[in-house]
Amino acid sequence: METKDIIFELRTKKGLSQEELAEKVFVTRQAVSRWETGETIPNTETLKLLSQLFDMSINTLLGSPRQLICQCCGMPLEDSNISKEIDGFFNEEYCKWCYADGEYTLDIWKRYAEIGGKEKLEEFKQQLIHEFNTLLHIEGLPKVENLNVLSGEFINMEYTLPNGEKVKFLDDKQTYLGSQLESEFGGDRCFGIVANMDFILIATYEANGENPELVIYKKR
Ligand SMILES: [Zn+2]
Repeated sequence: METKDIIFELRTKKGLSQEELAEKVFVTRQAVSRWETGETIPNTETLKLLSQLFDMSINTLLGSPRQLICQCCGMPLEDSNISKEIDGFFNEEYCKWCYADGEYTLDIWKRYAEIGGKEKLEEFKQQLIHEFNTLLHIEGLPKVENLNVLSGEFINMEYTLPNGEKVKFLDDKQTYLGSQLESEFGGDRCFGIVANMDFILIATYEANGENPELVIYKKR
């Protein structure tokens, strides 16, 4: 949909006249009329106000010209998962799990913001990749090339110990660096590798994380 149709639809759905919408975003009725005929599009400041009023990202108001991606975790962004600032404006750089109320929610980002930001994170990532590739010698685990920032809630698997007890090792609210890799021996089990500053964890599992088995959990 084009911006003109989107604005028209949002306005009428909200039961607002052109006049009423104009008042809410501090423009003239004629300006609203021109948006809806496609003659002009709202300026950046007005887009922000419209975004807040309709609870819709600016990208969506503009007809979704870009596929937004969270700059922290790489997740594709939709209006339902885009983060917001304290004042209620969308922050279209991040998902709502990585950034909320004007702050990075994720532990690892907070810690890195304190000690030097993205460059430090990259250094740490390379250090972990080195550890995965040289220190552990897990049979079937291919060479680790990259690690992603992952939210604990998506990767916190429950493992059954030999005594039948079920345990989880991660914290849903924290972030980790990790990846999924296919076993060098083939088969239907994948490796999942996860680490943070304190530990390294390697597990195997079937499609969709079924039947996870812990391979190693090691303090760093
Ligand atoms: Zn994110």
